[in-house]
Amino acid sequence: MAKDKFIWCRNCNAVHHVTSCDKAPLYGYTGRELEEMPADDWRAFVKRHEGHRIEPLEAVGEKYFCQGSISDPMSVAYMEVTNGHDHLLLRQTRKSIYEPLSFELTPGRLIDQGVTVCIQDGEIKKEMRYHFNWSAEPFEDQKIDLFVQLFRDVVTGIEPEAIEVAGFSSEDDNVSFGLLQADVIELLMNKCASCFQPRELEDIRRFIDSHREPCDVLAFVMRRQLKVEQCAAST
Ligand SMILES: [Zn+2]
Repeated sequence: MAKDKFIWCRNCNAVHHVTSCDKAPLYGYTGRELEEMPADDWRAFVKRHEGHRIEPLEAVGEKYFCQGSISDPMSVAYMEVTNGHDHLLLRQTRKSIYEPLSFELTPGRLIDQGVTVCIQDGEIKKEMRYHFNWSAEPFEDQKIDLFVQLFRDVVTGIEPEAIEVAGFSSEDDNVSFGLLQADVIELLMNKCASCFQPRELEDIRRFIDSHREPCDVLAFVMRRQLKVEQCAAST
């Protein structure tokens, strides 16, 4: 994916996002006719800051949305940019949904706190209740809770880097889904072996096999944790 590009006027501390829409024409009514008015935001920005010190900026890494949602047009996002030698933090906001995004440089930096891995506790329990409802010997809630607890214990010991990413959340930019791999299933089954009857183990195995697809309840939820570390402008 192409990296976001910006131009920055160091005199005014104004930032312009360079996009392919820069040269898209604007439409307006002049009298009774709809008229195409050529627009060139990039050129307009440069003209406005004529004689000023203008530097290009390029995004480094991904955009981080504070509320974690890319689908919310109003959410504030941060991204690291560079002018070639310095790393700077850019803040993306929108005053209203009718206005374009605006960008400003802000003191601070993005701290990557790594990825946390969790399981879909609630969804697994719900699905297990539904699944075992149809079997001759339904699993009681207590057993379901025990299974979920064992699964959670197994996941605690897995390094996020060892998990194969199998999908991305459409609602949250920082969330991806991890595949429940065969070696993890074996670890889980070993743990279950000391807590469940052989017959129950067979049922558990069947449940796992039918719910381990990337979009299913046994997929891991991997959340990228980023933090905006604000520091005073003077430092
Ligand atoms: Zn300027």
